[in-house]
Parts: sequence; structure tokens; C-alpha cells
Amino acid sequence: MNTEPLNAERQGTEKPGLTTDTVKQGQDQEQGQEQGQEQDPDAAVGEDPVTKPDTSEPPLQSGTSDALWVAVGDIMMHMPQLPAYYDKSAKRYDFNPYFTEVKPLLEQGDWSLANLETPISGKELGYSGFPRFNAPSELAEALKYAGFNIVTNANNHSLDRGAEGIARTLRHLEEQGFSTKGTARSKAEAEALTIIERQGIGMGLLAYTYGTNGIPLPKDKPYSVAIIDEKAIIRDINRLREAGADFITVVLHFGIEYQTVPNDTQKQLARKLIAAGADIIAGAHPHVVQPYETVDVTEADGSLRRGLIIYSMGNFISNQRGETKDCGVIFKVHIHKDHASGITAIGDIEAIPTWVHRVKKNKANHYQIIPMEQAIKHGTTDGLSAADYKEMKRNLSVLSKRLQSMSAKPVMLNAEAPVE
Ligand SMILES: [Zn+2]
Repeated sequence: MNTEPLNAERQGTEKPGLTTDTVKQGQDQEQGQEQGQEQDPDAAVGEDPVTKPDTSEPPLQSGTSDALWVAVGDIMMHMPQLPAYYDKSAKRYDFNPYFTEVKPLLEQGDWSLANLETPISGKELGYSGFPRFNAPSELAEALKYAGFNIVTNANNHSLDRGAEGIARTLRHLEEQGFSTKGTARSKAEAEALTIIERQGIGMGLLAYTYGTNGIPLPKDKPYSVAIIDEKAIIRDINRLREAGADFITVVLHFGIEYQTVPNDTQKQLARKLIAAGADIIAGAHPHVVQPYETVDVTEADGSLRRGLIIYSMGNFISNQRGETKDCGVIFKVHIHKDHASGITAIGDIEAIPTWVHRVKKNKANHYQIIPMEQAIKHGTTDGLSAADYKEMKRNLSVLSKRLQSMSAKPVMLNAEAPVE
């Protein structure tokens, strides 16, 4: 299910020499970002002020770059997901087997994002599932194995283990080299801009949640979790643009649980943010997949910019079953930058529905995330029965229709004037 790129003539101009090995690790970037904010804006012309290329690489000032944006929905960890993955002799968990079938897809992403919907605060704070989660920190290693390199964690479970849980979770994610967004240990961290450069293209990243399940933000740390506030988000989008981001992803944890279509609140907010300068809205929280849509924004100068709104990517991994709660989606979005004009645009959009296969062996649940279309085509995935294939075919048909139900025609909007 592809959609046409906005500017077809920009496709197919890839220069192989420009797309190799300019990937920068999150940690170098964090430092660069903080320094970048202090720089004279005039110094930004022709060069990204935030994430400078390695000195060993010539600066990318002409030609084009292509990179792949990959994202999935919620990484849930219910208690039945644990027992089969505990290695008694090593005294630790290994959740890698969840991800073996989707790893080749996730690894393709230059940016590969997941929403971690549970603290991973360590054994000391006690493991628990719903309603207040805390999962083994080995989950971070499995996410890395799976191919993710960016983890957002602004969601209704961010504060399930308080501010200490946030600090411990961020530390465990950083130990695995992840760039993170959505929670913070300090005001400075909450306000720092995140621009992650891949293939010479800088992605600005923001992440917010509608709330924290009634757990109040700590009085002394009100910045702990980024909460949805339209004006504040638009201000952050403008700050990222000024800092040199080529395109902007806003991860939103929003919507109503188990609703398969976005509500008006979701639509109004997401479209407003696209009009204000966001390029991709990556939504999750409803535990089911909702449709995506494209938005064509007419800028002040008359040019068109295409935005993408993914309302909900559902559960990527969870113990929830039935009514497509056991389904998710991997989005692959091609990002193209023309260095001479400085214009970065969204190209092909691909949605790959996934299903969590669950089977009981030796009294414990085993889980595997399956890309359904591929699995049905080959028919040879280990551990899947004829009944499983039948269920996947039914799920795939429902999800494919649902995903595309809003994308036949782009929504047309005019650019929003920047908010002061
Ligand atoms: Zn949620």
C-alpha cells in the first residue's frame, strides 16, 4: 500500500556515494545539540548547526540524500510475557525471540522508532503488569537486537514507577545506545532539542502523551513527562526548524482505547501540527491500529509540503488478544533531501501489518511478532499452524482496509503562521 511521493521528479536521483555511512550515534548528537542551540543562527546557512558531519566526511552541500524512517506502536509488557524468557542459569531475561521475524524490517530503518509503554526500572523496584507496569531492563537489549535505535516513552505509563522509574529507564535505554524522547530527569533535558542525523538528513524529534493515568507529575519535577499542549508543541516545532532540522517527527500518545478510527480531537491536533511545520505524526495508545492520512500543506510562499499522520500503530507486542488488539503495523517512510534547495520531502509510504503469534508451551506463553503479508506469502514460518495462517489472513484483510480508509485523498491545509 504505497502512496505517490509529492514530487515525483525528486525520486530516483540517489547518488550512492552520498548515502553511505554518515550515520551518527545518538550520544554524540546529544552533545552537539546542546551546543547547537547556542550558535549564531547566521552560522546555520548551508550547514546543519546541530549535527555537523564527521570531519572525515566531506560536507553534503549538493546532490541528494535518501533515508528510511521506520516506526512501530506500543511495546507492552504484561506479566504473562515474562516466564518463558527467563534463563535460570544466567539469572536474566532474554526477549530477543519476540523480534526475530521483524528484525530484518526494523534494521532497514535509518531512524527506527518504538514507543516503550512500561518503565524498565530494574528488579529492585519490582516487576508488575497492568495497571502500574515495570518490566525487566533486558527489554532494552531486545529492542536493540530488534533493530530499533530510537525509543520514545511519553505515555500514560511513564510515571508508573515515579521519577525514579523514569531516571532508571532512561539510564537502561542509554546503556544500549538509544536516542530517547518524551521523559526527562532535569528541566534542561526536557527542553533540549533532539535532532538525529542519518544519511545527511536531520530529523527533529518530539514526543508527548495525553496524560499519565491520573498519577500527578512530581511537584519538584513537573518536566518529567512531556504532556500534550498544542501551543507548546508548535513552539517546539519552530525551535527545531530554527535549529536546522530537515524534517520533524512528532510522536503522540493519544486517542481512545480500542477505537479503530481517530476521533475529532486527534484529527484536529494532528492536522494543526502538520500545518504548523511537523512532517510526520506518529500516534499510538488505542491498542488497535487506526488509519493514516496524508496532508498537503500550502506554505506561505505557495509551495506544497506533504505531511503524514499515522493515528495509531496499535500494539507491536503485548499479551492482549482479539479484535485486532493482537495486531500492529510497521510503517516505512522514504525521506528525500535535495541539498541544493535544502528541501526535504516525504516519499513512498508503506504500512506492513503485524500480528503477535502467541502459543503456550510448558505452561508458559511464547510470543512472536509476524509480518503477516510476508508470512502468508512464504507459508513457512516456524511454529505457525494452518489455523494461525487462517487467522492472519483475516487480520490482514481487516487491517489493510482500515489502514487505507482515510488515505485515498490528501487533506488540504494552509500553513499555520508561527506562534510567538
Ligand atoms: Zn497508552
